[in-house]
Amino acid sequence: MAAERLVVIGGDAAGMSAASQARRFKGPDELEIVAFERGDYASYSACGIPYWVGGDVERLDDLVARTPEEHRARAIDLRMRTEAVRIDTEGRRVLARDLDAGTESWTEYDKLVIATGARPVRPSLPGIDAPGVHGVQTLGDGEAMIETLARTDGGRAVVVGAGYIGVEMAEALLKRGYEVTVLHRDEQPMATLDPDMGRLVHEAMDGLGITTVGGAAVSEILTGDDGRVRAVVTDDAEYPADVVVLGIGVRPETALAEAAGLPLGPHRGLLTDLSMRVRGHDDIWAGGDCVEVLDLVTGTTRHIALGTHANKHGQIIGANVGGDYGTFPGVVGTAVSKVCDREIARTGLREKDARAAGLQYVSATIESTGTAGYLPGAPLMTVKMLAERRSGRLLGVQIVGGVGAAKRVDIAAVALTARMTVEQMTALDLGYAPPFSPVWDPVLVAARKATAAVRKAGW
Ligand SMILES: Cc1cc2nc3c(=O)[nH]c(=O)nc-3n(C[C@H](O)[C@H](O)[C@H](O)COP(=O)(O)OP(=O)(O)OC[C@H]3O[C@@H](n4cnc5c(N)ncnc54)[C@H](O)[C@@H]3O)c2cc1C
Repeated sequence: MAAERLVVIGGDAAGMSAASQARRFKGPDELEIVAFERGDYASYSACGIPYWVGGDVERLDDLVARTPEEHRARAIDLRMRTEAVRIDTEGRRVLARDLDAGTESWTEYDKLVIATGARPVRPSLPGIDAPGVHGVQTLGDGEAMIETLARTDGGRAVVVGAGYIGVEMAEALLKRGYEVTVLHRDEQPMATLDPDMGRLVHEAMDGLGITTVGGAAVSEILTGDDGRVRAVVTDDAEYPADVVVLGIGVRPETALAEAAGLPLGPHRGLLTDLSMRVRGHDDIWAGGDCVEVLDLVTGTTRHIALGTHANKHGQIIGANVGGDYGTFPGVVGTAVSKVCDREIARTGLREKDARAAGLQYVSATIESTGTAGYLPGAPLMTVKMLAERRSGRLLGVQIVGGVGAAKRVDIAAVALTARMTVEQMTALDLGYAPPFSPVWDPVLVAARKATAAVRKAGW
């Protein structure tokens, strides 16, 4: 029998990274690891679902990083289709239900990891559960959608929501030959950008033949005689649909943690310290989409559901549980996406975030090419940069453009983390050769313009 038992709730990015990392530090004699996953898949890439649905990725198996059998071979007792239904922090035990057998049993823990992820928003509208209406969260959702696509084989698709998942799904459906309409509530798609940058995404979608309708509030989903979806109704129009995809955001999946009395933040995510230990609970860690993270730009906590954070959290938790040491200092809010050949990136604050944080700022927007302009097909890109008034500290960057645009945001992510001023950024020693950038990289051109704006705004 092992000296200690680690129980993990949630078998995807954060949970299984934590389990795998803990196993690297401690063998089965020292640490028994039991993991509960209520779904049919573990350690999968939800991020790949749009590319699987769109046909770039051939098989579901390609999206599974490690099978349950592979985990078990590493002495991780991963129990699939088993849902944790209660956490007893006093008794240090978890009640889990075997979803097939319908039985429940308690498992005691010395250490507990909560990695329950996020739950997609699914408004209770008439018709929302009709066949042909699909969420995009799990591989099971992807499978169900592919089944609908096989049955409708081209036709009309309505995507509700124009965040990165909505936009990526619009591309996937376009590739599958659908006539695609995207309905969203905001002024422009990609509300994680300022509207002036979102407009560029809108124009790109127009150019691809995707109809984008802003300010649209869905009120009902209509079904046909066969009970399947036939249209989406908004306050002022009706959109025929053979398939509907919901991409309207997620919330932290924290009902179980809340019922156990664990601390939640303003966004309903679990609150942890820098080692990802749940505040006030020495033996419980949490990571991934179920936690709030520290925003290094504003100093407040946010809920950002991204796999890049979940994997890092899992590694850090696993190291700490395994007796090593690691911390997660926080995030600057970096995210990249694309719709066909238009790349979309952001990091730091939008104008409205800066205002909400009480920061005065200047902004600079530039257009440039991603390679030397004289090379054939040099991709265009627009870079918007925000800097704090007076101090000139970089506050945020958004980029929309052709090939090579999105990952340029990483320069800004590093600069934000280092709390650089836009003037300091102008001197960054970035690589240059004609196929990779102009002599002045677009990010440096934006930094120069932002520096001038800071000076102009005065001290
Ligand atoms: C379509 C799509 C595209 C995405 N693209 C990107 C991208 O490009 N880049 C990026 O960084 N991120 C992306 N993400 C986000 C990324 O997939 C998530 O942030 C990541 O999966 C979070 O990992 P997690 O382990 O915290 O949560 P999850 O992956 O949600 O895993 C949580 C697991 O816990 C299980 N669970 C929950 N409650 C219980 C319970 N009580 N008992 C047992 N099991 C339970 C769930 O079944 C689930 O499998 C995308 C997500 C989607 C859906």
